[in-house]
Amino acid sequence: MGKTLPFIIGLTGGIGSGKTTVANLFAELGVDLVDADVVSREVVAKGTKGLTEIAKHFGPSVLLKNGELNRSVLRDKIFKDPVERQWLNSLLHPLIRTEMLTQLQNATSAYAILVVPLLFENGLDRLVNCTLVVDISPELQVKRTTERDAVDEQQVKNIIASQASRDEKLSKADDVIDNQGDISALRDKVAALHNKYIKLAAQT
Ligand code: ADP
Repeated sequence: MGKTLPFIIGLTGGIGSGKTTVANLFAELGVDLVDADVVSREVVAKGTKGLTEIAKHFGPSVLLKNGELNRSVLRDKIFKDPVERQWLNSLLHPLIRTEMLTQLQNATSAYAILVVPLLFENGLDRLVNCTLVVDISPELQVKRTTERDAVDEQQVKNIIASQASRDEKLSKADDVIDNQGDISALRDKVAALHNKYIKLAAQT
């Protein structure tokens, strides 16, 4: 309680753009990361209030034998039911937000990075001081994602279409990191931004 938030950079980008890669490069420079995907799993881990509420609402079929969340059963239950989906979102969004803020308050680096795939779509850009978008062309998104995951081209295109468009993200970004080059070029760009963010954080 009473802890203050650090200067926060919101890091985002479409699927396969290189968010994780960029976040890891910042971490190598000693920057503390908070990852929205990790937090969204933590708030429904075994023994949490979140999971208890979910099991109470949907019944024991959403639990695996070991007491963990059965994600595919929960997905089926909300898939065609907007009311249930809304119920789940109303439960999870505040839990995720509170946990993200707690982790950010515990950061000890000069500034912290909040990694959120849907930063603009979910309005979480309101939580951060500065936004950083990792940008590549849709063609490269398809290429890198199909090389990384067991998904086909059409599945990646569908995910890209469900996310904010490239133009929208670029227009909302405070900073853009072009990740169409190689990793060593990316490393240099991250180092330059790191210096900029240290200065910005010191001014606030
Ligand atoms: P995201 O977290 O945005 O989905 P990732 O960081 O996982 O993206 O990057 C997607 C894939 O592309 C990964 O396999 C990663 O290793 C690769 N990758 C990222 N940046 C580059 C780059 N500059 N050159 C080549 N491959 C890259």
